[in-house]
Amino acid sequence: MDGKCLDEWIRMSYDSDFSLRCGEKLSQLFSMHLGSLQSDQRDFQTWVGPEDNVRHAESFLQAPGKLQASANEVLRVEGRSVADSASLVEQFEKAVGVCLQKSQGLHHPRCAGHQVPASLPLAGWFDALTSITNQVQGVYEMGPWSVAVERAVLNQVGVELGFEAGNFGALVTSGGSLANLTALLAARHAQFPEVWEKGTESRGIQPVVVVHEDAHYCIERAIGVMGLGTNQLVRVAVDDQRRMCVQALNHVLNDLQQRRIPVLAVVSVAGSTACGAFDSLPEVARVCDRYGVWLHVDAAHGGALGFSESHRSKLDGLELADSVVVDAHKMLFVPAVCAMLFFKEPENQFAAFDQNAPYLFDPSEPTLARYDNAVVTLECTKRASAIGLWGVWSIFGKAFFGALIDRVITRASELFQRLEQADDFEVWGRPECNIVLFSYRGNSLDREGRTWDEAFQLRLRRRLLEMGRGYLTQTKVAGRLYLRATIMNPMMTEYDLDHLLDEIRQAASEIQQPVKGAF
Ligand SMILES: *Cc1c(COP(=O)(O)O)cnc(C)c1O
Repeated sequence: MDGKCLDEWIRMSYDSDFSLRCGEKLSQLFSMHLGSLQSDQRDFQTWVGPEDNVRHAESFLQAPGKLQASANEVLRVEGRSVADSASLVEQFEKAVGVCLQKSQGLHHPRCAGHQVPASLPLAGWFDALTSITNQVQGVYEMGPWSVAVERAVLNQVGVELGFEAGNFGALVTSGGSLANLTALLAARHAQFPEVWEKGTESRGIQPVVVVHEDAHYCIERAIGVMGLGTNQLVRVAVDDQRRMCVQALNHVLNDLQQRRIPVLAVVSVAGSTACGAFDSLPEVARVCDRYGVWLHVDAAHGGALGFSESHRSKLDGLELADSVVVDAHKMLFVPAVCAMLFFKEPENQFAAFDQNAPYLFDPSEPTLARYDNAVVTLECTKRASAIGLWGVWSIFGKAFFGALIDRVITRASELFQRLEQADDFEVWGRPECNIVLFSYRGNSLDREGRTWDEAFQLRLRRRLLEMGRGYLTQTKVAGRLYLRATIMNPMMTEYDLDHLLDEIRQAASEIQQPVKGAF
């Protein structure tokens, strides 16, 4: 390849005017994309299998600059090479267009799949700042403003959750899974500080972690990662609304105490992944307190309810927890990933990673070290991920988040009502937040002699997804499979709910129904 050409591309890549033109193009294309999703002119997604997609993505790498012959990209002007920026912008446009076209349309009105929000475009633009200025945080001096933004957000969110202002520990890390692991590491360090150096078996006895029956899989994974052994996970039974049964918890802890088995932590949930159940935290906290056990609340999904006047009571007692995880990239509607971890005791913030890295931390400035993220998070180079939340909050205020949350929860309860009234659906239970579980049962006319079993529900879900007409997930509760709608788009309307149900009916009628057996 022509060395001059590469030199010219390097110059162009860093050129502020070229950057401006790419940025304008991106914002234009995204706006069109958003508009077409919201107005339902576009399917929520065009389904393509993974192999075909990988091949397609690879084709861009194998034939870069396919749009034009590379010779055309460098024009000779008075003996100098000048990269043809117009054609580069054109290529950028083409690549961005493919990315948008191939992306999952989270802003589509019938997308009710995972706990991933139709993120606020404004939050996305703030988040883009992190990428284009490459602010990272290991120590304060690497990204003073982004560290400050993150601290400010944590200070305020902690208070919304009920912690005492200025008197709790907190950090931001890459996702709820990592935040949960960090919390359990801190819980271990608080009780068994020697383990960090001597390993898990230094006491000759392994602690157990007592968890909500429907705890997110990342809890079990954390226990595995920590070397405790996943056999050390003890599940506590739940009641008929899938809330941790407090009597069962008491029984378990009592039994462990009798047997002198140490408990590393109790993991309770505020907004379970499967169905959005909220444990009764004051009662759970009282039992943990009785046995002197660390209470960790996984509020990755439901912690955001602290912003809602109407729904914050579901988090009553959260302030009694030793540690709490809240994902901002779920019901605070910012792009992934931004997970917050809070500690009731400020010093526990420093407990998880009991380590010194002399090249990072400047001993002449010990107070600054309190702002060094690398001390408190697993990450060294850490993305500055709180800016979306900070930016939106700075413009609209905190009540705005409460309003967004109220909307999705209201929509979920409207969906519940519709499902309850419809004779061709069966709904699992009244939603506590924005997650609704149900099955399709067929209408009374064609119910005779047909079965709407779990295999049918799965085929129905796939059909909907592959046709791009709507998105649901599936889950199992008490061993039974359900379709699961998670309302994560505050712009979804009641009309969209009706439309979604109609699409499900349509998809059901299209797939061949098994005729044997009755339900
Ligand atoms: C989503 C979720 C997690 C995992 O968080 P990530 O940010 O996806 O890593 C953990 N616990 C609960 C209850 C969740 O809903």
